[in-house]
Amino acid sequence: MFREKPQLLSLSAHNALLAGISKERLRILASRCRMLEMESGSVLHEWGQPIRHLYFPIDAVISLFASSPDGGLIEAAIVGCEGVIGWPAAISQSKFCFRAVTHVRGTIVQVEESAIQKIFYQERSWRLIVAAYIHVFTIQLAQSAICNNQHSVERRLARWLMATKARTGLTLFPITHELLSEILGTIRPVVTVAARSLKKKRLIHYQRGNLTITNPAGLANAACSCYDVVHGELGAFLMLCKFTSHPFLRGPGLALPRTEKGRDEKR
Ligand SMILES: [Zn+2]
Repeated sequence: MFREKPQLLSLSAHNALLAGISKERLRILASRCRMLEMESGSVLHEWGQPIRHLYFPIDAVISLFASSPDGGLIEAAIVGCEGVIGWPAAISQSKFCFRAVTHVRGTIVQVEESAIQKIFYQERSWRLIVAAYIHVFTIQLAQSAICNNQHSVERRLARWLMATKARTGLTLFPITHELLSEILGTIRPVVTVAARSLKKKRLIHYQRGNLTITNPAGLANAACSCYDVVHGELGAFLMLCKFTSHPFLRGPGLALPRTEKGRDEKR
């Protein structure tokens, strides 16, 4: 679903990468974009397909799934209003090797792929922001590789919920165990056990497809150490590009007191 007359200039203040483009360029870009309202579970991009559009989330959150040739899928990164889907188009790469699925519904600005390269090559300040974002993205990928291999489903679930909260400021969002099992790369019963454990500790509550974080500080402590690594980098990136309106900087994310992690993070 989309609206034909996007208010790009006003929306750009709500995405770190769009906010880094000059107003002059944004006015030109306005005719090459549209505003999407995406529902949870909507697919924005299929793995390995050519990049036709870039997607800049405003208040939606997107999961990027890595894929194996035998069809296996696992979440490799999360993108919210700090980032963009399809950034390789800015550096003349034609494919984006992730499956992009909306997991928190909301607004996304869709921009034609051919409109982005010119901005990248002509605006040095934006080029630096994109480079810094790719750095954060790479760290997220590296940490996902460690996380998916070494940390328990319960700690990964806690980490994922806090990462989603960091990008939305929300403590309540609709999410099904089915989508969580895809995100965590495991079967539904395993997700159910992990979610029950977090619920028993009074960190979350879930009912009829809605999940509520009832104790954010406690959930942050239950999350694996990957949360600190990725969000430390995210905070540094947001400060670098002066995007202080990001929910992560507005909320308690950076300032949460952390307790010493246990040594029981192995499966
Ligand atoms: Zn982890």
